[in-house]
Amino acid sequence: VEAVLAIDIGGTKLEAGLVTGDGAVLTTARVPTNVADPWPGLAALVGGVLADAKGSGVRVRAAGVGCGGPMLPGGEEVSPLNITGWRGFALHRHLTELTGLDVTIDNDAKALALGEGWLGAAAGERDYLAMVVSTGVGGGIVLDGRLLHGRLGNAGHIGHLVVVPDGGALCGCGARGCLEAEASGLAIERATGRPPAEAPLDVRERTGRLVGLAVADVAVLLDLELAVVAGSVALGFGEPFFAAAQAELDARCAISYTRGAVLRPGGLGDRGPLLGAAALALQGGASRGRDRRVPDTRSR
Ligand SMILES: [Zn+2]
Repeated sequence: VEAVLAIDIGGTKLEAGLVTGDGAVLTTARVPTNVADPWPGLAALVGGVLADAKGSGVRVRAAGVGCGGPMLPGGEEVSPLNITGWRGFALHRHLTELTGLDVTIDNDAKALALGEGWLGAAAGERDYLAMVVSTGVGGGIVLDGRLLHGRLGNAGHIGHLVVVPDGGALCGCGARGCLEAEASGLAIERATGRPPAEAPLDVRERTGRLVGLAVADVAVLLDLELAVVAGSVALGFGEPFFAAAQAELDARCAISYTRGAVLRPGGLGDRGPLLGAAALALQGGASRGRDRRVPDTRSR
């Protein structure tokens, strides 16, 4: 059996697994993130998964890694906002030396966008936005079948579109009224004094409206008619959130090419981060470049 090594690096947990070319997750393991110094835990986790692969005769072709930003292109250096011990950490070099594999690293929300297009709610689509509304808010955009990067690799970062222009909450980025400052799990907890899972109906609907507003701007700018929304806050808020977001999108998308734009819940559940990382790895020999396409669903 052939598989790729998929790794998701977040501020709460580190996860690694083996994923086949048709998206079957063969094995997965996770540990809590030591935000002061995550490398020893990550190295042990990855070493364990690779030892499992060897023991069970799985040939590992390449590695893909989704990691919180910001980072330099290709993960040469990563500085995730919520992993305080990593500032300019040479993640690509460390993982390449540890595994001996061809390693592809990208922003975790951009990785998820590839995963949703491969096996999730955007399967078969060539143009879409995928976003995550959880502790923070992130996103990735696939246009003409290719993942957008931008100058430093931050294209698609919808969390810092301004949705409350006057009197909005202060954002971690330094601006006011960003989507992340108003609609993220942390923002909701700050505003209500409770975890997002206990948020009242009006907060769920307001969060949906703000997400719909940001999505409408992106749809107009980039000629999109599909947005996939994943993440624990969005999926946990459920129907009231999605109905409010869709209503806002309907109200804002007036110009002809955006009419009928739809917002769908993410389709990968808690496997999204690993499948996104696997999609990066499946880029294979192209991984040193920046041309990242959605893996071919016809190979399923
Ligand atoms: Zn911001």
